[in-house]
Amino acid sequence: MRLVFIGPPGVGKGTQAKRLQEITGSNVFSTGDILRDAMANGTPLGLEAKRFVESGELVPDEVVNGLIRETLAPLESGFILDGYPRTVAQGRFLESLLTELERPLDAVIEFVLDEETLVRRLSGRRTCSQCGAIFHIEASPSAKGDLCDKCGGSLTIRKDDEPETIRKRLIVYRDQTAPLVGFYKERGAHRAVSAEASPDQVFASLKETLGL
Ligand code: AMP
Repeated sequence: MRLVFIGPPGVGKGTQAKRLQEITGSNVFSTGDILRDAMANGTPLGLEAKRFVESGELVPDEVVNGLIRETLAPLESGFILDGYPRTVAQGRFLESLLTELERPLDAVIEFVLDEETLVRRLSGRRTCSQCGAIFHIEASPSAKGDLCDKCGGSLTIRKDDEPETIRKRLIVYRDQTAPLVGFYKERGAHRAVSAEASPDQVFASLKETLGL
């Protein structure tokens, strides 16, 4: 399956993408994770992306488009794109890339949730500094407190999950990413899934939407 997941920060796209990967075998590509890895490793991509990511701004389209071309061109299997495209320009780039590769999208899933709940989810999020596992201080705390219960790494607040940056990211989503919903509705590929319920219930609606 070839899917795009769209939704504001904190909506749970990453969690749902990983769960879907387990049952479909489609690879998940999260541009946010790729950029954070590049930043942690100090690669040229990471150095270029750092100031945008840390301030909650979008990394320039050319940079992420290049990354996606490199990722998708050699790929034989299905994929789930988590956090890409994030602007209409990226949506157009992806459309022409997939036309060129003769591998069109099967669906675009928009995860929908109100802003108040998003802010609550993001401000409680903790990320393992070693393995990247995601916890939430209320909804899914680590069994080991401030340490990751999978690898023992210390849990941190992502710099861009701090309150000021959260607000900025939500504005960026509203202004730059939400217009993509109309773009995909026009193409008939758009499906909406409410992200309000528990991760298990959201996953059940996602599967139903995809006919799985
Ligand atoms: P995420 O983990 O998806 O919330 O992404 C974290 C940050 O990475 C975003 O706030 C942006 O700075 C950057 N980023 C991730 N994906 C993209 C994209 N498709 N276009 C531009 N910037 C991106």
